[in-house]
Amino acid sequence: MCSIKHENAKGYERIDQFNEEITSDLSAHYAKILELIGENPERDGLNKTPERVAKAMQFLLQGYKMDPVEILKSAMFKEDYRQMVIVKDIEIYSMCEHHLLPFFGKAHVAYIPNGTITGLSKIARVVDVFARRLQVQERLTLQIKECIQETLQPLGVAVVIEAQHLCMQMRGIQKQYSITTTSDFTGAFQKEATREEFINLISSKLS
Ligand SMILES: [Zn+2]
Repeated sequence: MCSIKHENAKGYERIDQFNEEITSDLSAHYAKILELIGENPERDGLNKTPERVAKAMQFLLQGYKMDPVEILKSAMFKEDYRQMVIVKDIEIYSMCEHHLLPFFGKAHVAYIPNGTITGLSKIARVVDVFARRLQVQERLTLQIKECIQETLQPLGVAVVIEAQHLCMQMRGIQKQYSITTTSDFTGAFQKEATREEFINLISSKLS
C-alpha cells in the first residue's frame, strides 16, 4: 500500500499559452456581460477584466484538450504487485456545469493492479483532466473510475470525491459548510471487506 499527497500540483503548471482568436472572442462576450449586469467595462478597474476572464476560463477548462487515456498509457509498467494502491487527498478544482461556479475538494483513488501499474502522479493527472471541464460531481467520479478501469484493467477501482460547491454556498440554500461526497467502485471493491479497508485507509490521519 502506498499513498501520496498533493501529487497533482504539476497538473496546474501546464498551460500558460492561449489561443488568440478564442481569447479575443471570449473577451468581447465578457465585455458584453459586464455591460448587461450594469457595469461600465471601460472603467479603469474593468478594462482588462474581459481578457483576464477569457484566459482564466481557458485555464480552468483546459481538460478538454487533454487525453486521460494517453496520460495513463504514458507510464504503464508490468508488475506483479496485487495489493491496493491508494492516492489520497488529490486536490480538485472543477466547475459546476449548471451555474459555471467552482466546486472544489479532494479525490481519493485506489486500484488493485492485475499485472499492470501506472505512475502515481498519472492518477492525479487523470483526476485533473476530468476536473478541468464543466462537470457534475457524480459524472466526474464515474469518469475517473471508468478511465482507470478500462485503461489499466485492474482487479478493481475505487473513487471517492468530497467537495464543496459554491453554487450551494453562495446562492440558493446557502449551506455554508456542507460537503458533498460521491463514490464509485468496480470489481474487487464491490466486496464489503475491500471497500471498508479502502474507506479506513483514506479516513486515517496517517498518510
Ligand atoms: Zn451548480
